[in-house]
Amino acid sequence: MKLQKKQATAAAQPREDPQCPLDREELGRSTWSFLHTMAAYYPDHPSSPQQQEMGQFINLFSKFFPCDECAEDLRGRLKTNQPDTSSRHALSQWLCRLHNDINVRLGKTEFDCSRVDERWRDGWKDGSCRLKDCVEKFC
Ligand code: FAD
Repeated sequence: MKLQKKQATAAAQPREDPQCPLDREELGRSTWSFLHTMAAYYPDHPSSPQQQEMGQFINLFSKFFPCDECAEDLRGRLKTNQPDTSSRHALSQWLCRLHNDINVRLGKTEFDCSRVDERWRDGWKDGSCRLKDCVEKFC
């Protein structure tokens, strides 16, 4: 079954807590959040089995990602661009470049990979993420 792009109809307008299945964009955003966060917390000095297993995980992921077009495109990229699992920094940068290649293909803006840790681990240097934490925790 193919995951479709969202139709621009009145029925597709956001509703309060609709609890609906994901469309391709929602799945993509959630998946990138997971992948970048996983890379952000990968060990700085992974063991050899950890490096192998992370490589296997990404290759297996490309076989089961439930968007046929996306998964096929990803498998094609992995043929010539295997994940760099040698360290947290290397994996985060590899994933950022991969995401940017897909951004370009989809006509989206490229992300500045020097800020990948701010986006996915530490929060922006201007403190805006700490402010959000504070509001949520009533501090
Ligand atoms: P997304 O691209 O989902 O990005 C989410 C957030 O990540 C952004 O708001 C930004 O803060 C951050 N970000 C953006 N770029 C980077 C980067 N380079 N590094 C780190 N953080 C970044 N859709 C298709 O239509 N066709 C495809 O072939 C396709 N292939 C995909 C392959 C994979 C592996 C995945 C996970 C998704 C794929 N998608 C594909 C979905 C697509 O990439 C987007 O997720 C979707 O279009 C929603 O885009 P978005 O603009 O909300 O932001």
